[in-house]
Amino acid sequence: MAIYQHILLAVDFFEANDQVVYKASQIAEQNNAKLSLVHVVDNLPISDPAADAIIPFDVELTQELMDTCKQRLIKLGEELRVPVERQYLEMGSPKMEIVRIAEENQADLIVVGSHGRHGLALLLGSTANGVLHHAKCDVLAVRLADD
Ligand code: AMP
Repeated sequence: MAIYQHILLAVDFFEANDQVVYKASQIAEQNNAKLSLVHVVDNLPISDPAADAIIPFDVELTQELMDTCKQRLIKLGEELRVPVERQYLEMGSPKMEIVRIAEENQADLIVVGSHGRHGLALLLGSTANGVLHHAKCDVLAVRLADD
């Protein structure tokens, strides 16, 4: 019996994400569910601690980044047979954008990767934690191998 109808896979294009991609696509196949992809380009200003400065938001650099991410999303979409209209490339806070896209497109499961975190990283939280706290649908956090 199908439990999910629409699965949203959040990808950050790191190699460790292979597991996340594999599990999301398998769940989609087994449930005969739609699969969508989302990648968010983080638009926070980059700080340079060495120079004790914040590097200003660079429009050209951001556009370049968006173009590169778009190509990666298209390539992944081809591999997973996800049509272009279900490949979402957004800009902003990853956790908030992932949740927004899930809500706007009635996804009933969000799949993200999750690192084992300790100390400060645990306190600061992760994308997986943020999505879990804000999402109205189910969230699957696929445990990624620690570095
Ligand atoms: P992190 O919080 O960086 O450990 O990321 C954990 C997981 O959140 C990743 O495996 C992705 O599933 C998702 N994620 C993180 N950053 C992004 C992003 N910029 N766009 C889409 N998904 C992301």
